[in-house]
Amino acid sequence: MRLSRYFLPVLKENPSEAQIVSHRLMLRAGMIKQQSAGIYSWLPMGFKVLRKIENIVHEEQARAGHIAIQMPILQGADLWRESGRYDDYGQEMLRMQDRHGRDMLYTPTAEEMVTDIFRSHVSSYKDLPLTLYQIQWKFRDEIRPRFGVMRGREFYMKDGYNFDLTKEDALHAYNRHLVSYLRTYERMGLQAIPMRADSGPIGGDDTHEFLVLADTGESEVFYDSAVTDLSFGDRQIDYDSVEECQAVLEEFTSKYARTDETHDEAAFHERVPEDRRRVARGIEVGQIFYFGTKYSDAMGATVQGPDGKPTPVHMGSHGIGVSRLLGAIIEASHDDKGIIWPEGVTPFHVGIVNLKQGDGEADAACDSLYKAFEAAGLEPLYDDRKERAGGKFATMDLIGLPWRITVGPRGLKNGVVELTCRRTGESEELPPEQAIAKVVEIYAKH
Ligand code: ATP
Ligand code: MG
Repeated sequence: MRLSRYFLPVLKENPSEAQIVSHRLMLRAGMIKQQSAGIYSWLPMGFKVLRKIENIVHEEQARAGHIAIQMPILQGADLWRESGRYDDYGQEMLRMQDRHGRDMLYTPTAEEMVTDIFRSHVSSYKDLPLTLYQIQWKFRDEIRPRFGVMRGREFYMKDGYNFDLTKEDALHAYNRHLVSYLRTYERMGLQAIPMRADSGPIGGDDTHEFLVLADTGESEVFYDSAVTDLSFGDRQIDYDSVEECQAVLEEFTSKYARTDETHDEAAFHERVPEDRRRVARGIEVGQIFYFGTKYSDAMGATVQGPDGKPTPVHMGSHGIGVSRLLGAIIEASHDDKGIIWPEGVTPFHVGIVNLKQGDGEADAACDSLYKAFEAAGLEPLYDDRKERAGGKFATMDLIGLPWRITVGPRGLKNGVVELTCRRTGESEELPPEQAIAKVVEIYAKH
């Protein structure tokens, strides 16, 4: 993409309505525009990152054997009356009527609808296990929408639902989700710590939240600092193996890590040596639940079991805050000049800055870099505007592309361009082919 032809409405001033850094940077970098409280338009660069995050979620769901569907945003109230949640959900549910006076709602989650799909089409235990998921817009009429996309009213969420014959099988599904979530977040350059949590309106016994540590997080968290040394890395896990998933779950959840609702000060002191005790703040980027037969009992979702008898299925649900993740990633990865995108989610792979637009040699060198990156399957963002170098650097730093190549007549005379790492600020002068090769090699791992 050439910046002169792109739509990147960066703001010079700090927007006064933004209280936290991620919100401020998303507005300044022209990623989102607020339309109503907690409701945003996604401008091109914000939308691009949203899609990257969404793709990672899809890829990791597919790897775990989960199957994508899409359910409607507007749902009829009747299914929610069957489960009892039409009344229970309260004011967070946005309700409306259609022209026939039928009660409708904007989906805040979708346990009821997916259970309805299941009961209509699945009748035998032989069709299990089954996990269906979607990535879809949700609406919750939050009392205090704030912090930009972190607590919106309309937000984009991955919600998945497992159906299993036995509790044991459903707990394997739970563990499998925990493993796939660890992988998902790490690919986004995040460390999300699974913490035992409170189940809230979804109900159920077993639940973990995934929290990213950040000063602006809304949850208070208590943990053993040894959890932050854990990394999923590039291990290959067989998602069908009960033992392998169980082993990962134990490794990542055996150390003390709790949100405030489930924190037990005495247990914290007993289990964690003093020098490893930490109290901090965290952003919830996902949650997994096992809730047994709560919805299948209420809605008659049974299958014929091996003994021929109707058996209610065991279920769980699992959510990832796809749009919230943009804010969480920025909270975890920025400096005073702007965003620092992790390679896995960056909107463009590399920025090209032409120090002397209009200079025949500099323009030709930039064009050939641009073509070379495209040929290698990478997306460059070429700042080809007739602007001062300082302004170009400030824009690149603000939008946070991990790698930048600076091209100017002086370097070209010596046959070099400058390759700069956004995270460390380190630069090196290299012949253009070597700079390309280095960037291509870095992205081969992402
Ligand atoms: P919270 O406690 O932050 O209100 P929740 O526990 O009600 O969230 P879940 O039902 O677990 O949310 O939804 C799954 C994920 O969706 C959450 O982990 C979070 O990342 C995201 N999410 C929930 N509410 C919002 C919101 N208002 N805006 C953006 N993302 C949200
Ligand atoms: Mg939650």
